[in-house]
Amino acid sequence: MSHGITGLPSVTVLGVPNDDGSSFLRGTAGAPPRIRKALHSPSSNLATERGLDLGAEARFRDVGDLPVGVPYDRIEPQVAELLDEGDRVLSLGGDHAVTYSIVRAFGPRFEKLNLLLLDAHPDLYDQLDGDRLSHACPFARIMEEGLVARLVQVGIRTLNPHQREQAERFGVEIHEMRDWPPPAFDFEGPLYLSLDLDVLDPAFAPGVSHHEPGGLSVREVISLIQGLRVPVVGADVVEYNPTRDPSGVTAMVAAKLLKEIADRMLES
Ligand code: MN
Ligand code: MN
Repeated sequence: MSHGITGLPSVTVLGVPNDDGSSFLRGTAGAPPRIRKALHSPSSNLATERGLDLGAEARFRDVGDLPVGVPYDRIEPQVAELLDEGDRVLSLGGDHAVTYSIVRAFGPRFEKLNLLLLDAHPDLYDQLDGDRLSHACPFARIMEEGLVARLVQVGIRTLNPHQREQAERFGVEIHEMRDWPPPAFDFEGPLYLSLDLDVLDPAFAPGVSHHEPGGLSVREVISLIQGLRVPVVGADVVEYNPTRDPSGVTAMVAAKLLKEIADRMLES
């Protein structure tokens, strides 16, 4: 049963601390507790910009983290269980490889699921260094398995010939940063939002494994989130790397975006 009592959607936060798919630096498995600490920091509050107090909202809960290094095949059933209780699930990575396991729970449960990826990278490699489960590959796996009806990517600025070929093969709609701003989105049906924090310019979010200049501002990402006009039934915030965030500023960015995503998910 959903923990919501109003008929409106309920949102559950779940930490998925696995960085086995990281190709360059480890460390993102340490992200969920650091983002949670920033979320509850006395330097701010739990209000969203719309004025919803997540600290007082019965439809918003946090069930904590799966064990550090949780195997991929244990992620899908954990997410599925929450979905079958009627909740919308907001996951905290971990690196981007976890999104494949998470979306495997969503795919069979939502007809015509749309996926919006905010990322510097398309993550469409067939394999990277021989690893088909690398954080560079999740969207190739998701499209091969037909887990979503439509994949739209925004913020992309690292396309190489292989990934461009993969995008064409899978019919991925890519809005590259060189063409910024993207046109207005017109999704039909439920949406899963995957937020890789490296979509932000490293000036705003240095605490990620892959610094890719030329990205979005925090405000631009918030505007994209607030502008979504379809039910957001699932989301993840991935690739926060605390080992590169001594000041904690990127954790605050992640917590801020988590609040705005949760606000959007709590709307019907
Ligand atoms: Mn990514
Ligand atoms: Mn990325």
